[in-house]
Amino acid sequence: MNEENQVYFVDSDQLPPAALERKHRLEQDPSFRTNHMEYMKGMQIIGSDIKEKVLKAMDAYDYDVYTAADVERALSNESCSIEDFKALLSPAAAPYLEQMARKAEEITKNHFGNTVYIFTPLYIANYCQNYCIYCGFNCYNNIRRKKLSFEEIEHEMQVIAKTGMEEILMLTGESRAYSDVHYIGEAVKIAKKYFKNIGIEIYPVNVDEYRYLHECGVDYVTVFQETYNTDKYETLHLMGHKRVWPYRFDSQERALMGGMRGAGFSALLGLDDFRKDALATALHVYYINRKYPHAELSLSCPRLRPIVNNDKINPRDVGEKELCQVLCAYRIFLPFAGITVSSRESADFRNGITKICATKVSAGVSTGIGDHEEKYEGKQEEDVGDEQFEINDSRSFKTMYDDMEQGGLQPVLNDYIYV
Ligand code: SF4
Repeated sequence: MNEENQVYFVDSDQLPPAALERKHRLEQDPSFRTNHMEYMKGMQIIGSDIKEKVLKAMDAYDYDVYTAADVERALSNESCSIEDFKALLSPAAAPYLEQMARKAEEITKNHFGNTVYIFTPLYIANYCQNYCIYCGFNCYNNIRRKKLSFEEIEHEMQVIAKTGMEEILMLTGESRAYSDVHYIGEAVKIAKKYFKNIGIEIYPVNVDEYRYLHECGVDYVTVFQETYNTDKYETLHLMGHKRVWPYRFDSQERALMGGMRGAGFSALLGLDDFRKDALATALHVYYINRKYPHAELSLSCPRLRPIVNNDKINPRDVGEKELCQVLCAYRIFLPFAGITVSSRESADFRNGITKICATKVSAGVSTGIGDHEEKYEGKQEEDVGDEQFEINDSRSFKTMYDDMEQGGLQPVLNDYIYV
């Protein structure tokens, strides 16, 4: 492992002087950082033109030019054009939230009925070689690191499966050195014994590696682009493979080329201008859908939440109203796409938004490592790794299931059968 990829899992004060110096230079001297638009060795280039289309549209998007008349026209049109979508994301649409919600609800009912999917995430490791300045898992942060053994993974999965859950999303930090593709593949094979639907949220990999993971049992791949603004991205991701913006952008396409059934997309709303990031995220899905019409595509919509040991970044103000506007606009523009609302949002918000446009929620969530048993059965705290961010809705699977049913929705645990 060379200095570039060296991982330090200690507090800044305890870093070796050379590492501390490097960290400060990365933060303060842009010329010291690598080119975030240049692929690193080993990163596959697939030559897709989608990113150019998305960036061009995002750069040209001036949301202040849209008027009430544009919004009304967008709401009355049978199908939603890109131009209509831009109007629905604009500040001019804010007073039309009620109408947008009604339209979104109708479209959701037409495509998904009253179903809502429930899944749980499982972090199997929290080692990370990237320096994303807004994340508690970053390589310079002083947190308890852990990577579950295969026995621990199996045990955690047994604890989760006992609740009745049938879909799992497996997450790692982004460290090939600590959580290599083979480790993830073996973990997926274990998951296959307990769950019918398996997603992964890991570091981006090449097509052959996605193919291998699909053969191990992965159904879908989620990758957060964080922000589509490449300049802003550069200032937030200072080191590691994640620094390479275009390689990350093409992840979902590589995953589909590797045979994955589905792909998930997201910006972390609040890192940059959320209207532009929402436009870019939806267009990313739109163009992938046109190129891979068989793929099951979904959107997530996390907002930046407080994280441990980090006072360097202040989330921009994306309130619940703004989030609701974005989600309704997503639904109207992309009627077929799944929309996942994470436990970063409150129970009240999730109860409401699942009746309008969201189709998937997580339950029984812990962002720590190996602490499902601690939560359910009293394991000692020092055996577990720290959490990535704070969650807001901590409902168990059973409570979530009951709440969805009581709200008139039909909870779904799995809708896919391999023959
Ligand atoms: S956001 Fe992901 S890649 Fe970045 S530091 Fe956190 S875990 Fe690592």
